Amino acid sequence: MPIPSRNQRHRYSARMRLRGRHVDTGEVVELSIEGTGIAGIGPAPDETAQGPDVLGDDGYWIAPALFDSQVNGFGGKDLNAADTSPEDVAAVMRLLWEAGVARFCPTVTTHSYERMSASLRAIHAACEHDPQVAHAAVTLHIEGPYISSEDGPRGAHPREHTRPPDWDEFRRFQDAAGGRIGYVTLAPELPGAAAFIERLIQEGPRHTADGRQIVVALGHHAGSGEQIRAALDAGARHCTHLGNGAHAQLPRHPNYLWDQLAEDRLAAGIIADGHHLPPAVVKTFVRAKGLERTILVSDAIAAAGLLPGRYPGNKGQELEISADGRIGLAGTPLLAGSGLRLHQGIGNAVRFAGITLPEAIRLATANPARLFGIQAGYGRLTPGHSADLLLFRWDAAASEVTVEATIAGGEIVYRRR
Ligand SMILES: [Zn+2]
Repeated sequence: MPIPSRNQRHRYSARMRLRGRHVDTGEVVELSIEGTGIAGIGPAPDETAQGPDVLGDDGYWIAPALFDSQVNGFGGKDLNAADTSPEDVAAVMRLLWEAGVARFCPTVTTHSYERMSASLRAIHAACEHDPQVAHAAVTLHIEGPYISSEDGPRGAHPREHTRPPDWDEFRRFQDAAGGRIGYVTLAPELPGAAAFIERLIQEGPRHTADGRQIVVALGHHAGSGEQIRAALDAGARHCTHLGNGAHAQLPRHPNYLWDQLAEDRLAAGIIADGHHLPPAVVKTFVRAKGLERTILVSDAIAAAGLLPGRYPGNKGQELEISADGRIGLAGTPLLAGSGLRLHQGIGNAVRFAGITLPEAIRLATANPARLFGIQAGYGRLTPGHSADLLLFRWDAAASEVTVEATIAGGEIVYRRR
């Protein structure tokens, strides 16, 4: 994202100003935006002159916009449908704006080569044709197909399409995605996994459009301690939705949850929707991984944001959304994905893990930005950085975030009515 040069900044007058409490300090500040970047931030004057280019007041909070590193769809729009279109990708992005999300990783899950590559092509096309999507879609995530075929670790991924890692197929996925895949979730116990990871790390940047280092994550797996360590030595450094995509029952110890929790080389994504992980588990995971290595994700699927009821899933199954927002495979105790909006995850993380609001915000801004290598400083309210901002109200008693406005690349893309 280009940031206006010093000279350009002098030529522009401030296009927009935000007034609200700085999420880190609680101090009321005025933040100015010029072009696509943050131009300045400082203590607010006694009164900010009102006008069409001024947003917020002393009751609002200002934070970096959220970064959701795992999104499969939203509001009936599916990134993994048989006929996903570039318009669907843009529609998902717009719905994410309502949750305060300005950046995300579109996620394509286990299926046939044809089906997955069709989704990757649609997302790539959306990025090519729509600059707002290109801004928002930080990097593409393939979650599978190189995952466990076992019930439990496999989760809701179709067993017949799980398979061992295949470099040639990955290269073809990357071609379909226009070199935009920068995040791969796989199972470390599959044949050839460690060599495949090593190749992703070493040769991956040559096959990404921007020379990006590929983030390799462990997920939907049942790896032993030794297999997990081999994957880490090969370069894996993240866990996808830790604690989900796992067996319902495990030996108390050792098991892969402890191995991943104890390994400081691994960051971990967690789904703090109250259904995927009980509050005590969220708290324990945050404590074990620490505030630098925990990342909040929604893992939202197409059914997210729909009313309670039964809906056809994208892989021939039937989904059931209950009144409390849980999305399950109908007739089973299995979760089919999440209906979480990431701003709700912020409130939940505060409540479940006993962390502060600025700490929770960091788990969904600076932490994913660092892991996925987007511009240094994203996730901080610092002049010179892209103006991706969230203006919100915070109900501390209810631990609830209400998104008032989302700004992406200096543009107001969502405003609550
Ligand atoms: Zn998953």
